[in-house]
Amino acid sequence: MPELNDAEELGVLATSLRRHLQRQERAGIRFFPKGDVKKETMAASDRNVLTGTEGDLFTDSSAAYQATNLEELRDAIGDCRRCKLWSGRTHLVFGVGNPRAKLMFVGEGPGRDEDLQGEPFVGRAGQLLTDIITKGMGLKREDVYICNVIKCRPPDNRNPEPDEVASCEPFLKKQVDLVKPEIIVGLGKFAVQTLLQTKAPITRIRGNWHSYHGIKLMPTLHPAYLLRNPADKKLVWEDIKKVMKEMHGENT
Ligand code: SF4
Repeated sequence: MPELNDAEELGVLATSLRRHLQRQERAGIRFFPKGDVKKETMAASDRNVLTGTEGDLFTDSSAAYQATNLEELRDAIGDCRRCKLWSGRTHLVFGVGNPRAKLMFVGEGPGRDEDLQGEPFVGRAGQLLTDIITKGMGLKREDVYICNVIKCRPPDNRNPEPDEVASCEPFLKKQVDLVKPEIIVGLGKFAVQTLLQTKAPITRIRGNWHSYHGIKLMPTLHPAYLLRNPADKKLVWEDIKKVMKEMHGENT
């Protein structure tokens, strides 16, 4: 059998998945039903994602902390110079998508294309993520929310440093607090290790459900990694199918 390219492979997987969902819909189960995700994972006591963000850079009286929507948060971040990454950026890459999305994708930080365009996941890796969302999951990119742990591009695409993460992660937490997703998909080693505060290898923790302040988090491989290692696309599909099942209420 000839090797399939990305789009063909996604098409085959999407067809298979859609048939499965159609069977479920005929059985009376709707896709994306409101409130299907297990609420006990979002217990109020564990829901305050902003806990721990207080400090000199993000006080509870700051405009960013007080923001009541994403626009206010973006305005509050402004021309941010809270860490040294500001000096090398073309654009601060805040985030994009549905401000009430049930599903949020969180990556590491902007690459060159993202820095130039001011939008997360717009290069080749971004196209692969878009294919996963649209061809694979049957959603529109605008249905989900997409952002990164770090909002400014590190030089030469190096990993963000601890002080940069410490400065920027409160903005991500505030985004999560405002969007209130039911599921977060962590994309790649750096984002997942930062979100889960772990050094565990992504190959060990991907594919299993974790909790990010009470929100279900599925770690998976980064699309940029998949471009270099296309054979591992099947692993991401295993993870994404688990996400879709959870959204579909099949894991109860
Ligand atoms: S990476 Fe974050 S904290 Fe650093 S300058 Fe950019 S927005 Fe500010």
